[in-house]
Amino acid sequence: MARASISTVIERRVRSAARNRCGYCLSPQHLVMARLEIEHIIPLAKGGSNADANLWVACPIRNRYKSDKTTAVDPETGAVVPLFNRRTHRWSDHFRWSDDGLRIVGRTAIGRATIIALHLSDDPDVLEVRSHWVLAGWHPPEA
Ligand SMILES: [Zn+2]
Repeated sequence: MARASISTVIERRVRSAARNRCGYCLSPQHLVMARLEIEHIIPLAKGGSNADANLWVACPIRNRYKSDKTTAVDPETGAVVPLFNRRTHRWSDHFRWSDDGLRIVGRTAIGRATIIALHLSDDPDVLEVRSHWVLAGWHPPEA
């Protein structure tokens, strides 16, 4: 979405700030076949901008699921809460890895809602790939 209007300079800065890994599933570019994307935290369609503060890095899978969402439902309480925002939230405050390192587990309403909305822990293809990363000693990453 309007990716072409994000300058190379801004994209480089955002990738650097994100350590070139997905803000949601923490998959690093060097382990993902597809190019990680620059995502709008607040979508342009909802008034978001192309400023650094509204941009982060997401893998194509997460970015497709996120689409123009900014909120989701916490499966425990039914409350509508904001999606996890890597610019204002700390990953480890809202998520943790399961003991086997395969699944992301929510610690908060925001974490739980984001896991459901972005399918962070139920995609069988992702779980398969992650299981190989675990065997190779590449995963889970530090938050
Ligand atoms: Zn991801």
